[in-house]
Amino acid sequence: MSSSNPSIVCVALATPFRKTFDYLIGDNAVPAIGARVCVPFGHQKSIVGIVLGLKTQSETTHKMRAIHEVLDAQPVFSAELLALCQWCADYYHYPVGEVCQLALPAILRKPKPMPALKQTLWQLTSSGHALDITSLARAPKQQQAMAVLRAHQALPTEQCKQAGIDATTLRALLKKELVEKQDLEVAAASLASHSDILSESPLELTAEQAAALNSLQYHRFSVSLLEGVTGSGKTEVYLQAIEAVLTNQQQALVLVPEIGLTPQTLTRFEQRFNVPVAALHSGLSDSQRFTVWQQARQGQVSIIIGTRSSIFIPLAHLGLIIVDEEHDLSYKQQEGVRYSARDLAIIRAQQAGIPLILGSATPALESLQNALGGRYQHLQLKTRANTYALPSIRCVEAQSMELTPQSLQAVQQTLDKGLQVLIFINRRGYAPALICQDCGWLSECPSCDSRMTLHHASGRRSLHCHHCDHQTPVPNTCPSCQSPRLQALGMGTQRSEQALEALFPQVPVIRIDRDSVSRKGQLQAALDTINQDEPCIMIGTQMLAKGHHFAGLGLAIILDLDSAFFSSDFRGAERMGQLLTQVAGRVGREQHRGHVIIQTQFADHPQLRQLLDKGYHEYATQLLAQRQMAAMPPFEYIAVIRSHAQTAAMAQQFLQQVRQLGERVGVELAHCQFLGPFPMAMEKRNNRYHHYLQIKSPHRQTVRQLLKALCPQIEALRIPRGLHWLVDVDPQEF
Ligand code: ADP
Ligand code: ZN
Ligand code: ZN
Repeated sequence: MSSSNPSIVCVALATPFRKTFDYLIGDNAVPAIGARVCVPFGHQKSIVGIVLGLKTQSETTHKMRAIHEVLDAQPVFSAELLALCQWCADYYHYPVGEVCQLALPAILRKPKPMPALKQTLWQLTSSGHALDITSLARAPKQQQAMAVLRAHQALPTEQCKQAGIDATTLRALLKKELVEKQDLEVAAASLASHSDILSESPLELTAEQAAALNSLQYHRFSVSLLEGVTGSGKTEVYLQAIEAVLTNQQQALVLVPEIGLTPQTLTRFEQRFNVPVAALHSGLSDSQRFTVWQQARQGQVSIIIGTRSSIFIPLAHLGLIIVDEEHDLSYKQQEGVRYSARDLAIIRAQQAGIPLILGSATPALESLQNALGGRYQHLQLKTRANTYALPSIRCVEAQSMELTPQSLQAVQQTLDKGLQVLIFINRRGYAPALICQDCGWLSECPSCDSRMTLHHASGRRSLHCHHCDHQTPVPNTCPSCQSPRLQALGMGTQRSEQALEALFPQVPVIRIDRDSVSRKGQLQAALDTINQDEPCIMIGTQMLAKGHHFAGLGLAIILDLDSAFFSSDFRGAERMGQLLTQVAGRVGREQHRGHVIIQTQFADHPQLRQLLDKGYHEYATQLLAQRQMAAMPPFEYIAVIRSHAQTAAMAQQFLQQVRQLGERVGVELAHCQFLGPFPMAMEKRNNRYHHYLQIKSPHRQTVRQLLKALCPQIEALRIPRGLHWLVDVDPQEF
């Protein structure tokens, strides 16, 4: 072998080390960059890695081992996707192997060759052909399915579905041996060309929508902030931008906060287009995810709608990325690699040379500042598309979270008009705590700095910590003074549900929170009831505030805004404004004028007044001015190093040490400030103490350089047993 032939591969492995690893190619074929290989690592016999590069020489001082096997003849990661993973690793300071792992579907994390993409075909058996199908008269669905299948040679599962044959029917016929199925491998197809992209005609755009759409340029990188009030028809702009991209034989990637919660979103895309649309979300099985991944990569689906991690989906002909509700917190991963899918979307669009649309009625201050400063195109939709007025909003003084007489009257009036009511409380459970009326004992969690929530659902009473999941039965007497006088403190969704059921027995009361819709199909059932458009009362948490379109909603009452005024987080006011605006945006989306009532102790709070009088945009602009004065994001950049350990001292001392290291590195960098270490807002959580050290600078590059130098030094420290640390760049929570 000549010496210039590469004999060494550089491999990304999902290990905690922020480096790559060199292996000898040995007797194996030279792998493609972006392909998976199986390698020995430490005591592990065989783990999966991604080939990042080929070399003829290695700088490693260890004795190199050889790869066991090359798993893929073709790369699983394109050069663009590898570059995105590398950017992500570099910016968020995580091992590139961990990022690659995140981007791989679970099935490909196992050391096995890539399964072929299969299609299941259904056809009649000989007894199926022989059967007189009138004999199935008592099973009309089966009869109809037999008729359809008899008219075709063989039908793939999706086409069966389109013809109205469901999976249960197919299974029943399979059992009767009237049909059989066959798995066929699907060859990689180029993007199916669809002569008829549209299956319904687009709406005629309003002037604002048309101006927004016309500002988009395809085949070129740009970021546009589509700031449109709720109901302004942002989705129609997305749909028509996607149409343009599909006409160019390209694919569109649409990120949404939580797909399971808003099945309507998916339906709107499916209804409009005559092309394959795939949804990617946490509800899919590993093999379903893999299928979508394969189809996207091979260009067999034209539109992908997915949550955060879909930003890593390979797309052969990507032409447009849309991030809907771009302000939503769920785009920032809060465990493992702490990336922001919105920010990665910018990098991905830039690499691909395509437009990115960030859409929201309540943009994050970061995005708004970029738009106001001219770095993003600023597309504004200031009026509702269908000319229905935005709701009236008024504040009602209230000391507790019970509905005031005024609110109750408004509920009754709304129901009398045949409309629906939404009560918004962002606390699930019956009551946030249990208290002893004699000694003041509170139901505190033994493992967290937090109270245990009283739950009352379906006859079962329990105390439940929402932070560590600890659950105990409700005591009959006070654990501290044995008094039987224990009382529920405060109001949660269950308690509110109970109270409203008693007050309004004539209408359904529908509670939507994580407990009530935990099982599959429960949310859909609740939404189906709501969509029948009969008068009803919905009670819900955050889950109900996002993206839904309830045609018959006439009134929303917000019960617990006040906690936002006391938030220790510098983003508290921003979040409050977003939440209020989003909840209000659910109301009055059809002919009737909607109303919103805010029950609060602070009706004259200047911030609240400004939000109500001027609207989110001006409110947010004002907040930006305050952030600038306080030298906070988006005017300065923050990263935190977090630690947690069995004792507060350990967590804190470690960060103290990190700070000293950091200050030594930082002297060479201008404008870099350390703050802390501080305990987190909830210091003790699940029996561990959480602290953080903040790094701040007016320059993004400074934060990046500092961490780049600092992380290897922290890795080299002797880390005490039981202590964990991590880096969080652009953190969203403190
Ligand atoms: P957003 O996402 O901005 O809150 P939607 O896209 O859900 O708003 O649109 C709100 C309503 O307005 C929907 O019922 C939609 O069908 C309707 N709509 C949107 N654009 C138009 C238009 N150009 N003409 C008429 N109705 C429209
Ligand atoms: Zn007591
Ligand atoms: Zn707890």
